Amino acid sequence: MRRVLIAGNWKMNTTRVPAVALAEGIAEKANDFDSLDLAVCPPSCYLDAVGRAIAGSKVGLGAQNMYHEREGAYTGEISAAMLCDLGCRYVILGHSERRHILGETDGAINQKVLAALAAGLTPIVCVGELLAEREAGQTFAVIGRQFDGSLAGLSAEQMSNVVIAYEPVWAIGTGKVATPQQAEEVHLALRKLIEKRYNEGLAKGVRIQYGGSVKPENAAELLKQPDIDGALVGGASLKVDLFLGIAAGAL
Ligand code: PEP
Repeated sequence: MRRVLIAGNWKMNTTRVPAVALAEGIAEKANDFDSLDLAVCPPSCYLDAVGRAIAGSKVGLGAQNMYHEREGAYTGEISAAMLCDLGCRYVILGHSERRHILGETDGAINQKVLAALAAGLTPIVCVGELLAEREAGQTFAVIGRQFDGSLAGLSAEQMSNVVIAYEPVWAIGTGKVATPQQAEEVHLALRKLIEKRYNEGLAKGVRIQYGGSVKPENAAELLKQPDIDGALVGGASLKVDLFLGIAAGAL
């Protein structure tokens, strides 16, 4: 049985005091969501403060990125071991903003995924097509290429510890949410890719989140699709009531 994961990607937003208040607000009410997994992914400079604010609650801590090397002369980078040291359970990898603004390739994402898994982190690996790619009928080809590239070389056991987030790029931060049917068909296609490479049992166990303009108003419809196992939430994760309103859609 797959547990729903609702994760907030705070991106490069907030400062220390509101970040801690947001984390505390979510942690305070987290017990109302016993059947779900909740996570917050603040900017890396606030991981420590937010980790303290959610300590003892059921809210997991996640980072938004990491580098694949263990340590060394990589100015500005953070390793998987450092994230573990800060209490992280999750790390978002291959977010579309990193792919398209910062030029991250599937190969680079793959190295990060392998390093995250080796350190015991759960990577939330993002895939998703651009609007032009959807309009050109390339959605499934793009998803297949990103799946093959970003998740290359994972053993079955490693794959079982990955969360995939399907985030159509045209739906991120735009207010244009994918319809539940559009999302479901891609989630199902991803599950089939897992089945083809591994087996049906493994495919049934991997969690696949949807992300892209998820709000309390549209969350329940999306989350009741059979292959949608949670949400990766950007803008709406910056307000306690909106984030938990989305989580409520999964109860
Ligand atoms: C995201 O950045 O992962 C995201 C889904 O953003 P938003 O919810 O704001 O569309």
